[in-house]
Parts: sequence; structure tokens; C-alpha cells
Amino acid sequence: MQYPPGCAFLDGAFCAIEDAKISVLDWGFLRSDATYDVVHVWKGRFFRLDRHLDRFFASVDKLRMACPYDRDEVAAILAECVRRADLEDAYVEMIMTRGVSPTFSRDPRDAINRFIAFVIPFGWILRPEERDAGLSVAIAETQRISPLSVDPTVKNYHWLDLVRGMFEAYERGARTVVLPDGAGNITEGPGFNLFVVKDGRVATPDSGVLHGITRLSALDLLAEAGIEAVARPVSLAETRAADELFATSTAGGIMPVTSLDGAKVGDGRPGPITSKLIEAYWAAHTRPDWTVAVKDIPAPR
Ligand code: PLP
Repeated sequence: MQYPPGCAFLDGAFCAIEDAKISVLDWGFLRSDATYDVVHVWKGRFFRLDRHLDRFFASVDKLRMACPYDRDEVAAILAECVRRADLEDAYVEMIMTRGVSPTFSRDPRDAINRFIAFVIPFGWILRPEERDAGLSVAIAETQRISPLSVDPTVKNYHWLDLVRGMFEAYERGARTVVLPDGAGNITEGPGFNLFVVKDGRVATPDSGVLHGITRLSALDLLAEAGIEAVARPVSLAETRAADELFATSTAGGIMPVTSLDGAKVGDGRPGPITSKLIEAYWAAHTRPDWTVAVKDIPAPR
């Protein structure tokens, strides 16, 4: 088996990425009972690490798990993984699983929660050289699971609806998918949030979605640029009628959507607001208030 270069931290110790393995009895594997977060490092700097740690610890609390490390300790472990992996641009994942119950009890409270971290090279949903062509997206028949059943603000591996949607998209010749909810609104896609632009105004769904950190950065940067951008319900009809569409994700940043269900979005090329935002997003990767150098984070004690 071939693995990407990287480094992991598992059961209290750093290890090579190919050695980072968990028990098949872990509830994370058997029940998707886990939460995770992904922050990226770009040119040696973490991007909005504080926001990712806020979201991770909030998710851990909502799932009634206990992380054996505090915020500073998690930051130190992540930074040490990046240093050991020797990567300038990295995809940095932290995970809490419910863990293994020593007696294989069916009570989740008996399981011993497990913290895992790993670092691999930065990955893209849409590579920079593909940006002009943009993403082709299908709107799935499959609905996103109700937020009353699985809280989408807890970043999770409960992806069977998203994966089913991806196969729908492939069958229809699209590269990826966005899922509707049960009320005629759009939600999100596999690993990204969606934004619509109409008459110079920008909107993104307010509920039924992960509160993506790239979504937050897009809202912040648009506000700074004086462009109206709000989180509110976004209907399928207005998604189809948009002047511009773009997706946001840690795995690639701001990504133009240039076709929807086989029809061109706008003139089929990245629109002016999307293009401006892409520039602002990558320029923000040296902002002192949003980034921290990996080398400035102390080693774990
Ligand atoms: N929505 C889902 C379901 C995701 O899994 C992700 C990221 O993996 C996102 C949205 C985008 O979130 P972020 O911008 O924090 O990467």
C-alpha cells in the first residue's frame, strides 16, 4: 500500500503516516461516531487555526466526548506533525472518535474517546490551473440528512447522503454535487459550502450546513470589500437563476461553479465577484490576525 508523505499522532505518540491505524472496534469506524476538523497550512502558516480549534472543541462537546488535550496542546501536536512531515503547504486533520469500549458494551459512555491527528500534503477539490474552467455541479435528488437527525454544524463523517449524491452527479456527467433539503432549499456539497450571487448581492444557506471556516472567510472578505453577503435560506430556484455560483472549502479555497445541471452559470466563466474573492482569499494568507507561523507554535511538552 502506498501512502502520501506525512506524519500522524495517535494514542499519545507521533508516528509515520503508514503506521497510523486504529482498532476495528473503535466506534468511529463501526458507527461513524466521530468528529473532526481540517485546518490548512499555506507557506508555513496555519490559516485561521483559532476558528478551527473553536469549531473542533464545540463539536467534541456537542457529541459529549472529552478530548484528552486542551487547545494549546492540540495546537502544539498539530504544529509538531507539520514540522515532522516537513511540509510548507499541508492538510492538517484532527479527529476525536468515540473510541473502543473495553467490554464491547453498547453504551457509548463506556467507550474511551480517542484523539488522532495527521498531516499530509495540501489537497484541492479544484486545482488552481482548473479555476478558469470551474466546477460542473449537479443538484442531487438525494436530500441532505435533516439537521434534526444529524447536526451538520458538528463536522462529521456521516456522508452516505453526500456520497450517494456524488454518484448521481457522475451519472449525469457533473464533477460534483450539491444536495437540497426537504423544503426546496439548497444545502451543501461533499466538503464544501455553496454561495449564490445575484445582482451584486451574495447569499449562502444559513442552516442545514456546516459553518465552514472558508465560508466565514468569504463572508468576512466580502463585507470588508463592501459587498452585501448574508446567510439565509437559499432556494433551488434562485440557485438556478444565479449570476455567479461559488463553492468554499479548506480543500481549495474559493471555487467557481461554472455549470449547474448542464446549464452555464452566467457566461460559463468565473464571475467578477468570485474572481475578486479568490484574490482576496489567497492574499489573506499572510494576515497576522488570521494566520500563525508553524514555527512560532511551541513543541508539545
Ligand atoms: N460542508 C461540509 C459537509 C464539509 O465537510 C466541509 C469541509 O470539509 C465544508 C462544508 C467546508 O468547510 P471548511 O470551509 O471549514 O473547510
